[in-house]
Parts: sequence; C-alpha cells; structure tokens
Amino acid sequence: MDRRNFFRILSTSAGALADGCTRKTDKLIPMLVPEHEIVPGEEQWHPAVCTECGAGCGTLVRIMEGVRQIERNGEQVRQRIAAVKKIEGNPLDPVSGGRLCARGQASVQSLYHPDRLRGPMKRTGDRGKPQFAGVSWDDALALAADKIAKARASDPARIAFLTGPLAGARSVAIARFVEALGAPAPVVCSVADFPVERRAAEIVFGWKGLPVYDLAHAHYALGVGADFLGGWASPVYYSRQFGNFRQGRRDIRGQLVQAESRLSITAGAADRWLPLRPGSEPQFLAAVGRILLESRLARNAAQVPAPVLAAFQAADVGALVAACGLDEKRVREVVQELGESEAPLVLAGASIVQSNSLDAIVASHYVNLMLGNVGKPGGVLPPAQAAATAPANHGAAEALARADVVLIDGANPAYTLPRSSGVFDALARAGTVIGFNRFLDDSGAWSDLLLPDHDPLESEIVQPLYDTRALEQTLADLSRKMNLPDRVPVTPAQPLSHTFDLAAPAFDGDAGEYPHTFQPYLSLQFHDGRGSHLPWLQELPDPASSAIWGLPVEIDPGTGMKLRVSNGDMVRVESRLGWFEAPAYVHPGAIPGVASMAIGDGHSHYGRYASGRGANPIAILAPVWEKSTGALVLGGTRVRLSRVGARRDWIQFAAPDREERGFEHR
Ligand code: SF4
Repeated sequence: MDRRNFFRILSTSAGALADGCTRKTDKLIPMLVPEHEIVPGEEQWHPAVCTECGAGCGTLVRIMEGVRQIERNGEQVRQRIAAVKKIEGNPLDPVSGGRLCARGQASVQSLYHPDRLRGPMKRTGDRGKPQFAGVSWDDALALAADKIAKARASDPARIAFLTGPLAGARSVAIARFVEALGAPAPVVCSVADFPVERRAAEIVFGWKGLPVYDLAHAHYALGVGADFLGGWASPVYYSRQFGNFRQGRRDIRGQLVQAESRLSITAGAADRWLPLRPGSEPQFLAAVGRILLESRLARNAAQVPAPVLAAFQAADVGALVAACGLDEKRVREVVQELGESEAPLVLAGASIVQSNSLDAIVASHYVNLMLGNVGKPGGVLPPAQAAATAPANHGAAEALARADVVLIDGANPAYTLPRSSGVFDALARAGTVIGFNRFLDDSGAWSDLLLPDHDPLESEIVQPLYDTRALEQTLADLSRKMNLPDRVPVTPAQPLSHTFDLAAPAFDGDAGEYPHTFQPYLSLQFHDGRGSHLPWLQELPDPASSAIWGLPVEIDPGTGMKLRVSNGDMVRVESRLGWFEAPAYVHPGAIPGVASMAIGDGHSHYGRYASGRGANPIAILAPVWEKSTGALVLGGTRVRLSRVGARRDWIQFAAPDREERGFEHR
C-alpha cells in the first residue's frame, strides 16, 4: 500500500490523530470536503501529502468555511466553500514527523494564486508569447487527441512526455498512457530528481530509489556534496534527523564534517567545513577510503569487492587531497575520527551535479560498506519506497529535439534546460506542444494547448475552484478518444555492472578566458524554480545573502576586491554560451575562483510575482550531461565576471550581520 492510500484509509477510520499544531483533532473526515459539511467557525484537519518536492512530506490541512465571489447568470454572487487555511506537518508521518519546510507551508498560496489557469486554453498568438483564449474541455480534448493520434500513426517515437520527478498514481497514469501510445518512456525533465544518487544506489546495492541515511543514530557523519539541510533530497526529514543527531540523545552529540564546494546551509551548520574544489568529490572519497584502509579502520573491508578495494589501495592520498585543494593533515584527522567512531556515516550526494558525480557517490557507498554501516542503525538504509517507475533516461533535450508532439506535466523545460541545449528551437519546431501545468509558465508560453491540472489540494481535500481537471482524468479521456489499448507488456530493465572511476571533472570554457567555475544550486526557498511564483517565498530571506525578492550571484572577497564590486553592485556573468546580469553578494565563505547562484529567478512567464524578475543561472550553462543518467551537469560551466554598475534595487533583510569578515579556507 502506498502512503497516499494509507492516508486515505487512515482518514476514514476511527482512531486518534494528532495535528501539527498540537491541538486535538475531533473528527476524521473523508477526502474532498463537501461544502455542506463545513460548520461555520469550526476547523477540520485532513491528512494529505506535500507535492512541492519529491520528498512527499505528510501534511495536515486545516479547513474552515470560506466564501468566494462568483458570477452566476451575469450576476456576482457569494458562494460558500470549504477553504484551506493552513498546512502543517503530520506528526504521524515518518518523513515530516509534524514539520514542514517553508515551501510546504507556502503551498496554500499556490491553491489561491491569482494567476492560476482557470480552464483549458488555446493559443491565439505566436509561440513563446502568452496569448491564449479560453476553450471548452470537449474542444480542447478533441484537438489534443487528434494531434496525438496523428503523431502516433506516423511515428510514436516522436512523442515526448516530459514530467517532473515521478511518484504515486500520477506516474502510473503517465507511464500507462505513453505505453499505450507506443511512445518512449516519460522523460524526467528536472534538476531536482537526483538521478545520479539513484543510479549509484542501484549500481552498488541494487536498490531502486534514493537511499535513506539514518543520520539520527550516527555518531560521526561526513557529508560530501549533499546540502541535506538545504535543497537536497528531503530537507524536512534530514533536518529532523540532524536535530536528533545533535541533541536527541542524552550522552551523544553527533559530529558533522561537511566537504562541499560551497558554504551551504549544511556546511554552515557543521562542526568543520572542508571546502572542496568543484568536482573533486571522487578524489576526496578515494583518499578517505585509502586512509581508512592504511589506518586499519576499515572494519568491514572484506565486504568490499576486490577490484574496488584495489582501486582504493592504489590511491595516492597526497595527490588526491592536493587535487581537492585541501590540507592533507586536516583530512587525515577527519578520517581518523570517522573510522574510530562507534557509528560512522558518509552521506554523499550531488547537490551540484558534476560530470563525475556518479563516481563520487559510488565511492561513498563503498566507504560506507568498508565502515560496516550498510543496512544498520546509523548507516545507509534501502529506499523507504522503491521508485514507482524508472524513466528510460533523463535526456530531456534529446527527447525534445526529435519530438513532433511534446506533452509537459510538472516540468518546465524552457526554464530548467540551458538555452544552449536547443530547447527553444525544439519547442518552436514541434508540431504540437500541450501543457498540463497549473500556471502559464516559461514552457506554457510555448504551448498550443493548456489543459490545466487541479491543484494537489483540490485533488484530495477541497472542491476545485476552477474549470480544471485532474491529469489522470485528462489522460483517461484522451485515451478513450484515441481508443488506446489498456495495457502493453513492459520489458524489464537490464542489471547494471559495478564501476568506480577517478575521472577529473569536465568543464566547458577555457580556464584562461573564463576563470571562474559556476555553480547554480537548488535553493531552499524556490527549489528548482518552481516556488518563485509565491510571494511568501519571495519574502523569505535567502539563507546565504539574506536577499529578498531577488537572488544574487555569490562571489569571493578576492574577486569582489579585484572587480571593485560591493554587495548589491551589478555584475555580468558570462559563459561561452550566454550571459546575464545580477547583483553580487560578496560571500566571505565563497571559495576563491568559484561563483555560485541559487536557482529560482529569471522566469520569462510564471505569474505576476516571478515573471521577469532577476536571472536564471541555468540559462547560460553548456549542454553537458552526466553520462550514465543524462542529468544536467549544473557545475560544469566556466564563467567570467565583470562589473556593470552600482547597486540597483537589491534588498537585503539583514545586511549588517553579513558584512565581510576575514575567512580562513583551510
Ligand atoms: S521537503 Fe518541503 S517541499 Fe518537500 S515535500 Fe517536504 S514540506 Fe514539501
């Protein structure tokens, strides 16, 4: 039984359920609250699941009576509705444990957003321009079915279904739809799906899905490249785990050392930060494995496959640590402490994907195997839930390039693919583009038809506000119109072989001409850019710079001095393939020669709060993909920086707290 169904059953059973605000919940209500059940002045709490990222935190949704103004027979009338007032974490949920991140809390604004699509729309102007007119569902579905059926008859391989990270019933509906069409498997088009982490777990352990790190019961943790308190994987779950790791046990305060190429939220919360050169994670982990072996601290080395053990033994610690830009003595101290700990854990990920990230995470799993913590409390555990579907590949740009019909759900390729990938040419060239998103976003502007989905809260809790339709229903209607078969046989995936390499990272751009490496990263507030349309999240200070309503590019003090740039001054960030301008934040913790920027700004279209605000750092990246998964290499582009002018409208929430101070990197 999946979690969604579990909550459906839970919600209709008699039993006790505590709410996220520690109030008593008196009544458990079935899903979809009819208006007549709402008692004025009384609140009801309903279990649901947050869909703002792939972590899927369990929530409780507070419902009360509300009123809305609608037009009926040409007159404005007030209509009584069940209204969502607040969303909290569900204390019974193993992921959220009663807590939510800011994006989960703000998701209520998405339901009532003034710029939501209110029904199906058809293009009336040129592609790329947001010119649409309303159309009936019957006409929209007939038109969509006609276009898809024609493409299917001529060459189903030229139908591309781009999705966000897939989970639950939605992923099953999409997978069945494309199977029935005979089209290629849906392609996840996202920078927040963590395919490299999934592939590494499959290679080493045969697990399908993201492994779970039992940080709460570890004594000593070495984080590598995973900003698990920021935008990586499951921020609420790991924040709870971190709380227990630090303060949840009477005699143990867990120690965290974070090795990362940015002073992220996790690095800032660690006892020690090891500032790695971008892309040197595999070298660092190979050195860690080698030091454990030579210090006889690899207590479980016998479990590591012989070729992998030989690779660790052949590692030259001095050369590898130098390639990371670290001090060898300091690294040896950390590894000694890790190996001597009663419950050691290495938590590695690719918050900023590099061309060699897979090798880094594979190496980290072998180090955990060496430390004997796999499958044990305080160690690496199998995924809580196996991935529902394994997309054939993540080559969204490739799929787009050959597509005649493009279907888009939960993805925004015009925002999350670099311009140099040819995304705009492909969207302009496609015969038909159909979007199922709830907002007219960057990709929606390139669509011919917009068939908007319900808000997730409308699918589960309250009646739909507008003339939208659940994606599952839209796909079923299209299938019926095209007489698609119910099921077709599926070919099982091929098993993978064990590999582990120490390749240096690949960067696009000449180091002389483009001296800075550039790191766009998933932000806490906007994630992969999907949260930028919500004003609560725009108001939330950026954790690094405290900027609101606009994201800066983070540069190191040496570069700031050289360019004569202070906080808020405008800089041009230029790669071989494009440029943008943004305010600078001179970050005292930024690694010299490395510029970073949170993803979130720079939408061409995404409602009134996000459209035209700031710059999209992904747009100027080179089209470089991680080989085994097709994930976009976020950290693989070099840039040059130049000053373009004095401070413009840039707002810092707590500027005096963030003045530059001396900072020692080693
Ligand atoms: S981590 Fe935040 S955005 Fe993701 S599911 Fe949980 S509450 Fe929602």
